[in-house]
Amino acid sequence: TQTIKPRIREILSGELPPELVELLPKHWVRIGDVIILPLRRELEPYRERIAEVYAEVLGAKAVLRKGHIHGETRNPDYELLYGTDTITVHVENGVKYKLDVAKIMFSPANVKERVRMGKVAKPGELVVDMFAGIGHLSLPMAVHGKARVIAIEKSPYTFRFLVENIELNNVQDRVTAYNIDNRDFPGENIADRVLMGYVSTTHEFIPKALSIARDEAIIHYHNTVPERLMPKEPFATFLRIAREHGYEAEKLNELVIKRYAPGVWHVVVDVRVYRR
Ligand code: SAM
Repeated sequence: TQTIKPRIREILSGELPPELVELLPKHWVRIGDVIILPLRRELEPYRERIAEVYAEVLGAKAVLRKGHIHGETRNPDYELLYGTDTITVHVENGVKYKLDVAKIMFSPANVKERVRMGKVAKPGELVVDMFAGIGHLSLPMAVHGKARVIAIEKSPYTFRFLVENIELNNVQDRVTAYNIDNRDFPGENIADRVLMGYVSTTHEFIPKALSIARDEAIIHYHNTVPERLMPKEPFATFLRIAREHGYEAEKLNELVIKRYAPGVWHVVVDVRVYRR
């Protein structure tokens, strides 16, 4: 996220009514050489020209209009305003992430969690990432933490980038990727650490995470939580389901990742689980 460049204002001041110049986006997201621009409705008639100027001044090859992220495989519905190629390599924290920004989610707000996961992972550990995406969390764990990682991703399109990213980061010897639904993953009682980097319905996957985890393990449990239920949730639900399946759970740490929607927060809880 940045602040508007005087040059953008200067160029567009000559082309747009003054009241619309004031509405030009002051912030945007840059992923590799693709820009995601939040654009007000009033600017729609000028959207292609605006995108062209932002691309020129910011040195981007494509500009997308910010939209929403939908469905089970978390796909964005961003409109392409400028350029043709939305596939790029984003470098963050020494990790290379290749992705199609128009079709795959990459949240700048999750950067702290990607960095943190690179620090908590340890050499020799086996991590199972149940919602791997393009390797958002798996890659820093393998690159910086030197952990062994099993990365599971259901979407075939996202999986293609996951496989490429494993090679780009040269961690083929540590990361194994599976293009399956994590509910069909056959491994049981194997993981020292399980990543549940998902939102909205993550609780439905707790029994599967417990079966993948070793008798004693750490689970990084993400979910979206209405503010009025915090701080009891999301751990209370995790503990209830864990007990129903013969496990005890201890909350080690809890972090708010970002505001997800009005009154709803994306939270991660680090939980130690033990089989009773
Ligand atoms: N974990 C990363 C993070 O926290 O930044 C990536 C999150 S991304 C929103 C979640 C990914 O999980 C998507 O790529 C989606 O396709 C995948 N996914 C959703 N349901 C799944 C399932 N049942 N099995 C495997 N992957 C799944």
